[in-house]
Amino acid sequence: MSEGKLAGKVALVTGSSSGIGQGIAIRLAKDGADIVVNYSGNPKGADTTKQQIESLGRKAISVKADLSKVSDCQSLVQSGIEAFGKLDILINNAGVEKGSEFVDVTETDYDFVLNVNLKGVFFTTQAFVKNLLAKNMPGRIINISSVHEDMVFPHFASYCAAKGGVRMLMRDLAVELGPKNITVNNIAPGAIITPINQSLLDDKPKLNALLQNIPLGRMGTVDDVSALAAFLASDEAAYVTGSTYFVDGGLIRNYHEQ
Ligand code: NAP
Repeated sequence: MSEGKLAGKVALVTGSSSGIGQGIAIRLAKDGADIVVNYSGNPKGADTTKQQIESLGRKAISVKADLSKVSDCQSLVQSGIEAFGKLDILINNAGVEKGSEFVDVTETDYDFVLNVNLKGVFFTTQAFVKNLLAKNMPGRIINISSVHEDMVFPHFASYCAAKGGVRMLMRDLAVELGPKNITVNNIAPGAIITPINQSLLDDKPKLNALLQNIPLGRMGTVDDVSALAAFLASDEAAYVTGSTYFVDGGLIRNYHEQ
């Protein structure tokens, strides 16, 4: 048995081939958990995550699953249970965004964003919870939503619709699943340095305008987010459910559209 506050736990981290999901997977492993790594299009990134987890002395498997498909959500959970015998923690992190004028959003673009960011969260969580209930096990569900579960993001209407949906899904499930000792919380990152923000990072005037709006005066790091995920996944957060925790340097209190 490993040491650490997550010793003996198994966590599934969706979209852990990159960015925030990769950081959370490695952080949970540092705290003692074994990890189901998931990717969709980036097997190399998933291998890097898996290797880093194994170098910490923890176990990991890497599973390809396109979470816009319900059958893949279900088979991902099943693969984790077959490999480790159980799953204690689900981190719903996989996400995509697509910007455009509202009037130009196509059905294909809408489905791309909603299917990963909302439908995928819904059905991965359903498969995870079914297994917990069948075994009468407690569990932890942590959704990586966004400040945009609450804050406007013009030209990203589909993203806001999906993340707002994840906010209400979390609130609803916290009540429905609380009596089963399953906690449900959201982490809402602000502007974090990851590949999803590459075009922003490359656009200095836009980046500087954003930094003006962040009271702490910097973009966040993956470690800023994963520290909170490790806490919410641990026994120390046993009485925490039904809320969103912002990791945004104060952005949500101080946003002005330029
Ligand atoms: P990222 O580096 O682009 O990573 C996105 C992850 O999602 C990748 O591992 C990707 O896997 C996975 N993914 C995408 N489509 C998928 C699909 N159909 N099935 C399974 N996995 C899929 O972005 P990130 O910044 O770390 O974002 C992670 C989460 O944080 C997202 O939910 C995002 O909305 C949220 N967030 C990020 C920020 C930020 O500033 N970075 C702020 C607020 C919220 P593959 O590459 O293998 O396909």
